[in-house]
Amino acid sequence: MVKTDIEIAQEATITPITKIAEKIGLKEDQFELYGKYKAKIDVKKISGDKEGKVILVTAITPTPAGEGKTTTVVGLGDALNRIGKDAIIALREPSLGPVFGIKGGAAGGGYAQVVPMEDINLHFTGDFHAIGAANNLLAAIIDNHIFQGNELMIDNRRITWKRAVDMNDRQLRHIVDGLGACVNGVPREDGFEITVASEIMAILCLSNDIEDLKENLANMIIGYTYENQPVTVRELNAQGAMTALLKEAIKPNLVQTLENNPALIHGGPFANIAHGCNSVIATNTAKKLADYVVTEGGFGADLGAEKFIDIKCRKSGIRPSAVVVVATVRALKMHGGVPKDQLGTENIEALTKGLPNLLKHIENMTTVFGLPTVVAINKFPTDTEAELALVKTECEKRKVNVVLSDVWENGGAGGEELAQEVVRLADQENHFSFAYPDEYSIKEKISAIVEKVYGGNNVQFEPMAEREIAKLEKLGFGHLPICMAKTQYSLSDDQTKLGRPTDFSITISNIKISAGAGFIVAYTGTIMTMPGLPKKAAYEKIDVDSSGKISGLF
Ligand code: ADP
Ligand code: MG
Repeated sequence: MVKTDIEIAQEATITPITKIAEKIGLKEDQFELYGKYKAKIDVKKISGDKEGKVILVTAITPTPAGEGKTTTVVGLGDALNRIGKDAIIALREPSLGPVFGIKGGAAGGGYAQVVPMEDINLHFTGDFHAIGAANNLLAAIIDNHIFQGNELMIDNRRITWKRAVDMNDRQLRHIVDGLGACVNGVPREDGFEITVASEIMAILCLSNDIEDLKENLANMIIGYTYENQPVTVRELNAQGAMTALLKEAIKPNLVQTLENNPALIHGGPFANIAHGCNSVIATNTAKKLADYVVTEGGFGADLGAEKFIDIKCRKSGIRPSAVVVVATVRALKMHGGVPKDQLGTENIEALTKGLPNLLKHIENMTTVFGLPTVVAINKFPTDTEAELALVKTECEKRKVNVVLSDVWENGGAGGEELAQEVVRLADQENHFSFAYPDEYSIKEKISAIVEKVYGGNNVQFEPMAEREIAKLEKLGFGHLPICMAKTQYSLSDDQTKLGRPTDFSITISNIKISAGAGFIVAYTGTIMTMPGLPKKAAYEKIDVDSSGKISGLF
């Protein structure tokens, strides 16, 4: 019988984290222990003499289950260490929403996991709780300001700041609060977002240090006055107290893979209304401590890799040396028209039909962003030899680098060929480029993403988006990069258009500013910032016995 992720993780021989810290050259005063197997790195105290090469793992347009990016990051990290390279992986922290909802945990899978997976998937070192607390402190400050006389003339119909909790709870999406007698606050329409959707999460992941974090928090816009002028956190003088709550959360977390190699797991912003990458601090810390840093961007390469490059790289100066595009036979068959419940059956015709999706993402990585790229075929137990061979030969025919990866089944040993290829590519010349320059107008930037990266013909702006664009350019935000909030299931904004859609236009329904994180969110349709639980949810399988041993997490 195939073992579940948690069974594999619980059988692992986990090393005290002090040993892992030692392995990457950390001295005792440079990290703080969170129990035996987790530590936070005191970034301010490390110098580090390395200049690690960053390897970005991304994927084809995903199916609802995820295509194995995290699994590939973990396996590739272990494989690099196996072939004698110093490698650290840098991943996002899981959110409790998906853990109890549909997707399950986010600590890799099979024999390519990070441990202790129960801790990582549940409270970990408390970062998300701290972010939730900072978020809700600000919410309390805003409502108290209004209650105490509203000196700033905040229009309580125009407050954009929401409360946050790290849970899938649709009941809290739209609420009315401040009810009761006048000592109980001012009644208004309000709502909750899941913590990973909080702008504070995006800020924590894009800030370079505590000072930068405080400055970015101060720049956040929480709503507008009766005269429709933006109100910032700075005007409420909340940034100091909020930063105080985040002073530990900003330190990257050190854990290990099943093969006892170092992993930094830190931050986890949404990949639609935010940029979907782990923290800049963690990536930069890993760069100082290792020769190779393997990391990922959320969703497919049209979203994850584009945002990694156009937002994270632009703001931090980080530059990837090579890209791995994860593809699965299953997802390619789905792009070729096979329904989800029939993905386990061989289907060469559908696979051939689905391939253009992969080819488009490869083209984007190599021609739009100018990066050396390799396809990693993430092998599933249901894939047939003929299917795997087809993907390989079709890539080779087009001179696309391609490697089979079975890290899920074999851990680092299943990723050695991929590791060798990544090392080769990272040494190659690189023509790194953004999808658009800072100077483009907001509309030009969106058009560049749609036309170059998605392969669409043009962009339509609805009246609300037009008005917001004009307002934001007038307020001086026109130079900021764009964060596209789009379905992850298609290159277009229509999730039913699989494969490589052509001749489509994208409709921008609304535009919002994240002035603290420093990007402009462009909405194609509505995006849920507070998910709900499905009818059959992952939580039903999760349990814990009298000794405290958890089961059913995946
Ligand atoms: P992503 O990071 O792309 O969202 P994950 O790496 O988290 O994807 O993997 C999603 C799920 O698929 C996990 O439950 C993982 O165990 C499973 N998975 C990944 N790769 C394989 C594989 N090769 N065979 C079987 N299951 C896999
Ligand atoms: Mg993942």
